[in-house]
Amino acid sequence: MLTIKNVSKIYNEGVTYQALKSIDLEIEAGEFVGIMGPSGSGKSTLLNLIGTIDQPTSGAIYLNGKEPAKLKSEELAKFRRNELGFIFQNFNLMPTLTVEENIILPLTLEGEKISVMKKKLKMIAIELGIDSLLKKKIATISGGQAQRVAIARAMIHEPKLILADEPTGNLDTRASADVMELLERLNQQKESTVLMVTHDPVAASYCKKIVFIKDGELVKQLNRQVERDVFYDSILETLREIEGVHHEF
Ligand code: ADP
Ligand code: MG
Repeated sequence: MLTIKNVSKIYNEGVTYQALKSIDLEIEAGEFVGIMGPSGSGKSTLLNLIGTIDQPTSGAIYLNGKEPAKLKSEELAKFRRNELGFIFQNFNLMPTLTVEENIILPLTLEGEKISVMKKKLKMIAIELGIDSLLKKKIATISGGQAQRVAIARAMIHEPKLILADEPTGNLDTRASADVMELLERLNQQKESTVLMVTHDPVAASYCKKIVFIKDGELVKQLNRQVERDVFYDSILETLREIEGVHHEF
């Protein structure tokens, strides 16, 4: 569903910096893929290119055969809203709006009927265990709850691809596990394709596949064919190999 072909990214703001070097990556529908690597290795850059937030300097990215970089800005905005769901470390919710208002925001932008919106909202809120929070202001709920709301917002228009950048980065251990279990369940039951950047080996152990980036290059790939705790150990080992340091968690 997602093809990344010989993608390079050079930032050219003041100083020139090559953040990605000839990345080739193929992701099938329904996969749950983690992207790991040291800080500054290009993980967010790659996710931003896939998310059409930024464009590659060379190479191409295809999503279901379409090349979003070729779309005009209006079509691109629509493409982003319809085909992609974004989840961020800092939740990116509107703090003064309610949970409900935040979740239906993407549908409002699409001009969806109120009755349809209400129905979709109810379903997703129950599914994600946040139906009792709908009338609360974002500022009054916990981080774990906020990330569930952000996931609901990302899922409500049933995007083909969910892009998550450090979704557990601001959460404690318990809330992280909840969010990862939720993403795992959405991936399994709804067959949503999930692509997640994380530096947390516990969060990464929920993925079915992990690609490792170092200095803008894909250096290794791990497939999970084993129990999560065994996979966790091989993730730690790979991080030690790649980062050349001992990882304490
Ligand atoms: P990661 O998410 O793996 O920590 P990033 O993709 O954010 O890494 O960044 C990769 C490299 O590109 C870093 O060295 C960073 O400083 C640089 N970089 C990121 N964004 C920009 C930008 N807008 N302009 C210039 N350099 C950037
Ligand atoms: Mg990053």
